[in-house]
Amino acid sequence: MTYAGGASNLGRLPADRGREVAMAGRSNAGKSSAINALAGRSGLARVSKTPGRTQQINFFAIDERRRLVDLPGYGYAKVPARVRERWGALVEGYLQRRRSLAGLVLLMDARRPFTPLDEQLRYWCLGARVPVHAVLTKADKLSRAAAAQALRRARARLASEAGETSVQLFSAVTAIGRDELDEQLRCWLELGPGSAPGAERETRGKKSPGSMFGGEG
Ligand code: GDP
Repeated sequence: MTYAGGASNLGRLPADRGREVAMAGRSNAGKSSAINALAGRSGLARVSKTPGRTQQINFFAIDERRRLVDLPGYGYAKVPARVRERWGALVEGYLQRRRSLAGLVLLMDARRPFTPLDEQLRYWCLGARVPVHAVLTKADKLSRAAAAQALRRARARLASEAGETSVQLFSAVTAIGRDELDEQLRCWLELGPGSAPGAERETRGKKSPGSMFGGEG
């Protein structure tokens, strides 16, 4: 997976071809860690945190027709209203118009999910008919029972609503939820198991069944 550029306005999005999956989350939710864990290497998502790139939509190419899209983080404590409005226009506009967008992964800290801006984003997805996969991050910080409860609560909350939504636990530190998230991305990107470049490779000595982004590639 390689960085393929960023767009700070809707006129600068790359060609709307093939398939892509967007990753979104509050700042500090663990989005970069999740992308790096999926890619099997650290530092990849750091480009999205480079000053000047934090307020743009960053694109990572998986292969010629598939992309992972890093949407700008939100929920910083002291962001001027003007910046928040720009974020909203950019993200909502992207969700509404992007035909190659197969789904959105919504990363939320398992200890405090569904903040108002998370809900805003879900609402936009619902309106744009973009399926959402909710990921409760940092599951390793919760006891097993507390994590199970967080998952149950999230499920109950999502089940009562229209739209296509699934939810899972995840940790970038342990392997919790890694295969499940990988599987969801493969499904949306129409990547068969093992069909991706590097899928057979070893990552950190552990045979990875779903390293879709090509290990150290
Ligand atoms: P982002 O702002 O959403 O990209 O969040 P980061 O990936 O930078 O993570 C924010 C902080 O949470 C960092 O200090 C990470 O080390 C930590 N973090 C991220 N994922 C996990 C996780 O699964 N478990 C634990 N314990 N910490 C995590």
